[in-house]
Amino acid sequence: MSLTRTLCLALLFATAFECPAQTPSVLPPPPDRAAVKRMFDPWRAPVPPRHLLANVHYVGAVGVSSFLITTPAGHFLLDTGFEDTVPIIQRGVEALGFKLTDIKFILSSHAHIDHVAGHARMKKLTGALVVASAGDTRALESGGEDDYIQWPKDSIVYAPVKVDRIVADGERLTLGGTTLTAHLTPGHTRGATTWTMDVTQDGRARHVVFFSSATINAGTRLVNNPLFPDFVEQFEATFAKLKSLPCDIFFAPHGDQFGMTGKFSRLDRGENESPLVDPAGWQRLIAGTERAFRAQLSLERSLSPR
Ligand SMILES: [Zn+2]
Repeated sequence: MSLTRTLCLALLFATAFECPAQTPSVLPPPPDRAAVKRMFDPWRAPVPPRHLLANVHYVGAVGVSSFLITTPAGHFLLDTGFEDTVPIIQRGVEALGFKLTDIKFILSSHAHIDHVAGHARMKKLTGALVVASAGDTRALESGGEDDYIQWPKDSIVYAPVKVDRIVADGERLTLGGTTLTAHLTPGHTRGATTWTMDVTQDGRARHVVFFSSATINAGTRLVNNPLFPDFVEQFEATFAKLKSLPCDIFFAPHGDQFGMTGKFSRLDRGENESPLVDPAGWQRLIAGTERAFRAQLSLERSLSPR
């Protein structure tokens, strides 16, 4: 396998960032412990917390996002990162002038260790309700034990957390005049959830999307997978749904999925047009993610034609 192709495959499972559209010739194996560690470790470093737009703030680490959505009646926190990134979130919330104990709902993009391992600790610190889809509740309440991915278990388990409220597709969660809508976009995990909200920025209504991720975890077979029998159908429905969502501004569980570094430095330079408005970037992200899905699907079908 060429180095480029190896790197592309490694990136595909990590962040779905675009690689040249080419059909791989072999399925990537699941990463071993050392590879998982090499992937996760650089994501834990702190970055300054910041206001993004309207009532949306970034309080995550450098490689794993957390978003604080504030309201007069309390706040939403979307994703808690690893257990050891919780203090980064805590410092970020306080540095922006908010109280951690005002967080009322803890949500997630998808139940993997790098986005929800901090849930149990954050729930203890805040007393907030943990909200998740039914599919991800299985993973959250088992601390990642009940996950279909075939990665070394001790690399992907975390402190289990009780889910207080299960959300269905299209369900809305309202707090202090802000409504977040859950869109079930399964595939990357059984209950991966894309959240949307509408905001007004500079007098204009904007559709904001918080992407769930929709990459194929390395080493996972799409076709005839006994752990996820309707994998392909669910992924197909997910891509159809993602493409139908109105989107002016998008965020994602990993900064490089939404061009965080570039967009944040343009915000720092105080550019007039909001650097966050990027509907074309959203279309590119989904198209690239879907291309990777279709490439693996055709590879699997060519390797074991039915
Ligand atoms: Zn993930």
